Amino acid sequence: MKISIAHLYAPYLNIYGDIGNIITLVNRCRWRSIDVNLVSVSACKEIIGQDFDIFFIGGGQDKQQEVIAQDLAKYKIEFEHRVNDNAVILAICGGYQLLGHYYKPHAGDKLPGISIIDAYTEASYTRMIGNVVVELLDKSTLVGFENHSGKTYLAAGVKPIGKVRLGAGNNGGDGFEGANYKNVYGTYLHGSLLPKNPQFADLLILKALQRKYDINELEPLVDEFENLAHNLAVGLKR
Ligand code: GLN
Repeated sequence: MKISIAHLYAPYLNIYGDIGNIITLVNRCRWRSIDVNLVSVSACKEIIGQDFDIFFIGGGQDKQQEVIAQDLAKYKIEFEHRVNDNAVILAICGGYQLLGHYYKPHAGDKLPGISIIDAYTEASYTRMIGNVVVELLDKSTLVGFENHSGKTYLAAGVKPIGKVRLGAGNNGGDGFEGANYKNVYGTYLHGSLLPKNPQFADLLILKALQRKYDINELEPLVDEFENLAHNLAVGLKR
């Protein structure tokens, strides 16, 4: 089996070690003898005509977001097609913010998003920094850390990834973190996210493989260290 991954704006949006998500996806595939085609994308024109199972977009400061937002916004329709074709998208923080309708930084105009997620983000004067623990519907947890001033507001009916047990999450007010629509996952969790959340990493890999292959589960991996790191992080204080 083979998975194609596009790392969007890799040179620009890779703050707080978000590249660790790519490393985790690649390794967890290769440890299962799943071939991986990883493409680093600096501008979205490079994805046209190429099929990708997973798109990853990391976080970045306002400046980096300004650099890429205009390019990304030109491909709003393209990404609508990709999402309807069940592509997996994982977006972290600044990348997550640009999946919504817009991100309004402190200075300057609104940055256009691609409206994949019915949400919007506005910079605040509260910097939300610290360890985060998120509780999913099945009571499992995601761990990571956050560092953002942007407050993201989901439209009614938009599914969050989970409830905040520790930290601020989307906006420090509604008690929710992240957003999920079809196979699109946006989250504020840096960390990077996937190394300490192996089950979530495998969820993304399985969904990506199910675009092309008739499978319902992945070969299990020995996640002793990953789970140890996860369980230690669940116990961290802010
Ligand atoms: N610049 C955005 C904010 O401060 C995103 C930051 C990030 O990606 N960590 O909210």
